[in-house]
This record gives sequence, structure tokens and C-alpha cells, in this order.
Amino acid sequence: MPPAQDARVRPFLVRPGARYRCFGDGLCCTDIHILGPLSKSEARRVAKVDPEGLSYDDGPKNPPVLRVATDGGCHFLQPDRRCGIHATHGPMQKPDFCRRFPIGLVATPQGGRITTEHRCPCRTLGERPLLDEDNVLDSLVDQRGKPKPDRRVKKLKLTKKTTATFEEWRAIEAQLLSRLASGEDPRDALGSRGFPELKKSDWPTELDAIVAECIDGSAFGFAALWFVEHARKRLNPEHRVRVPHRPWAAAFDRAQAREGAPREERDVLSDWLADEIWSLRWTDDRTFDVARLELATRFVIAREVTRTLKREHGCRPDRAAAESLMVVELMGESQYWTDIVAKMKS
Ligand code: SF4
Repeated sequence: MPPAQDARVRPFLVRPGARYRCFGDGLCCTDIHILGPLSKSEARRVAKVDPEGLSYDDGPKNPPVLRVATDGGCHFLQPDRRCGIHATHGPMQKPDFCRRFPIGLVATPQGGRITTEHRCPCRTLGERPLLDEDNVLDSLVDQRGKPKPDRRVKKLKLTKKTTATFEEWRAIEAQLLSRLASGEDPRDALGSRGFPELKKSDWPTELDAIVAECIDGSAFGFAALWFVEHARKRLNPEHRVRVPHRPWAAAFDRAQAREGAPREERDVLSDWLADEIWSLRWTDDRTFDVARLELATRFVIAREVTRTLKREHGCRPDRAAAESLMVVELMGESQYWTDIVAKMKS
């Protein structure tokens, strides 16, 4: 593996087949995730527009976040679902994470991989042109106009004892992406059925902890409940799922109403897995062996959520899959899940 400094951001690389354009479905400007934390310079920019838009609910010693209104939307979200800061002061006045989402950038020895989050109906549903680097360039750069990577790939650990060069990894990855694109069952492609045993803990205990800490009336809290209920169902087929509220439904209604042929449910799910692999997020804190286990686990939960949404809510299959990805991606990015992954026995 070349040294870290050889990881670079140019040329930009787009995963073949990735589709995205922002249509303003509006989910990203809600309490589906924390709108922050803000850096000092971001907080200064926001305060110049309206100091009331900052929230210090976590205490004055912690960085502020954007204030959320009682309907769960950002303080700056206008009734037409446009950003008030963007509308009056331009995109560079917004916090960087607002300008960036759902786009990311990973520096690799081959160039900068453009990545996408899938908890965004503009990414997963309805008409979506092929991702074009020119259309997302504003999201990739910092305040000085320079491409800013979210991570630099340093080490590619396949197992505790084996590492791979970037070229070796690319060969493994190409095969995996091709199997996912061919429609193969993702669990076969990943080589895991998911839900491995945990070290010094068990799944029910970990799921109870998520419920105890996350359920707070926010959209994120409801997503966490969807996640936990369907994980329990997978662990115990007798478990009776409590189907909670979906405060995010309107954003997916808008995406579904856009033109564009419905997608295959499996295509929606495999596309997410392909981006998880392409993003190399797993290199931050785990081996690829563990990454496969955790991805298979979240895939299995996503499939359970998809089933419930189709059966209990009459959702179209691709819509159900898109909502389920929002649920599993949100939880996958949380510290609760990171802690569980650290306990997975490979
Ligand atoms: S500041 Fe603007 S872009 Fe950021 S969350 Fe609020 S409304 Fe959305």
C-alpha cells in the first residue's frame, strides 16, 4: 500500500451506474439526523444570518447545532422547502455539511472517489440522472474552493492478519461489485448471512440499549425504533413488530411522485451496498472481514423493514426499499452501531 500522502483527490472518480441529482425532497433538512455539530466558523456564518438558528441544548461547552423547529425541520427551512440561508446569502454561507450532503469524497491512490449517502430520496427514488462530477463540484470543495476529502485511505486490512495493496483490493472489489450488479443475493456476494455472535454481549442487550438512548420523539428516534423492531424480528420470528410512525413519509411521497420508472427492490438494496463498499468507509475502523458481517446484518434488517412497509403500509417495492435504507444507513452511522460492530465476532 502506498504511503497515506499518495492518496489523492484528483482525478475525480464516479462509481459506474451511480445516479443522483438534488430535487429538494427535503429530508436532509430535518431531525432525521443531527444538524451539526458546527465548527466555530460555521457557527459564525450562521449567526450572521440569524443567531436564533443556533442551538446550544448540549451545553455551552459543546459545539452548537442548527435549531430544529417543532415540526422537525431546520430553523432555516422555508415553506417551499428551500434553505433560507442559501436563498438569501448563497450556498457558501451554509454549514459545510449542508452544502455537502449526500455527497462525499474519499482520497485513494487512484484518485478521489465521489460517494453518495442513500438516506436521501433524491438519491434512491424516481428520476435520477447519472451522477456527474460537474454537478456536484460545489459539494466537494471547502470554503477556499479546494476539494476536501472525508477520508484518506491508509490501510486496507482484509482480516486481523492480512492487508492488501490498493491494486489487490481493486480486484476483490471489482468482483464484489459485479456480483451485486448481476442481481446475486447480496448475502452470497458478501459471503455472510449477518448477525454474527457478539463478544461479551448479546443482541437483545445491545438493541435494548439503542431503544433506551435514542427514542426521543425525533425522526431519528423513530428510525431507530424501526431498526430495532426489525432486528428483533430477525432474531426471533415470533417477535410481534410494533410498527411506529414514519415522520419522513412526505419526503418519500415527493420522490415517488417524480417521473421515472419504478426500480427493482433488489436493485435499490444492492446499489446501496455497492456504495458502502465503494466509499471504503469500513477502512476507518474495521477489517473487511468484519465489514462484510455488518453489511450483511444491515442488509437483512433492511429487507425485513422493506417487507413490513410493503405489507402494512402498501408501499411500492422500490419505495419500501428506499425507506428501509434510510433506516439502516442512519443507524449504521451512529455510535451505537459502531460499538456493536466492535463486538462482532468474525
Ligand atoms: S441550514 Fe439550510 S441546508 Fe442546512 S439544514 Fe438548514 S435549511 Fe437545510
